[in-house]
Amino acid sequence: MKIRQHFDTATGTPVPDCPHCIGGYRALYLDPVLGAVFDTCPTCLDNCPTCHGDGLWTDACCLPHLVQRLYADHRLTPLICPRCHGITDLYDAHTGTFRP
Ligand SMILES: [Zn+2]
Ligand SMILES: [Zn+2]
Ligand SMILES: [Zn+2]
Repeated sequence: MKIRQHFDTATGTPVPDCPHCIGGYRALYLDPVLGAVFDTCPTCLDNCPTCHGDGLWTDACCLPHLVQRLYADHRLTPLICPRCHGITDLYDAHTGTFRP
């Protein structure tokens, strides 16, 4: 995804850092299952047209490790948006339901 350039509203000059996010991702909250959860910054990035900005990211080092850990610890399988690779839902293999 392409990160939008920010401009100082007073001077019109480009500013390097968005005050709301780091590299287009905003820290949201600490989830008991996922850990630190991030979403895309609406100021910097357009919503993903596939999941409409529903995708969430974590501070896991990579997706395979996250999938492994979620299943080992919680028997949960994350559903991943094929376009932005954000987590859109968690599937519970025990109950056959999705986590709200
Ligand atoms: Zn931002
Ligand atoms: Zn998406
Ligand atoms: Zn990893």
